[in-house]
Amino acid sequence: MTLSLLNVEYTDAPSTQPHPVSTDMMPCPYCGTLLPKDAERCTRCDWTRRATETAEPRASDAMAVLLSVVPGLGHIYKGHKVVGALLLFLVTPIAFAFALLAAFASAGFGLGILVFYWLGIMIHVWGIEDRVPPASVDQGEQY
Ligand SMILES: [Zn+2]
Repeated sequence: MTLSLLNVEYTDAPSTQPHPVSTDMMPCPYCGTLLPKDAERCTRCDWTRRATETAEPRASDAMAVLLSVVPGLGHIYKGHKVVGALLLFLVTPIAFAFALLAAFASAGFGLGILVFYWLGIMIHVWGIEDRVPPASVDQGEQY
């Protein structure tokens, strides 16, 4: 009789279910700790939301746009050296040459093209990913 009682209590199949994946939690991109979905930073490592979301405006974005007064400088500032050098030494002189030619042909109206070129450069440099690693990046990468 006591044997059957023991049998009832003992079950072969493990009753532990896989962790319920809560929809309002998210794993930390760096260490995998579960954090609230709207967490601004990780509680266990130095991950911050700003570090992985490039859509948010940062000081470096504004600086890059300012530097784009000289097209290409902003790109170089953000670490896009090849793109920046191309813009600075190739694309911009060509754009200026075309704008001047157009200005001669259309009595100054062609210079308006340059305004759009400039705006395009500045919008682009704002949106591109910042390739310059943040100063604190080597703290969290110890393996
Ligand atoms: Zn973390």
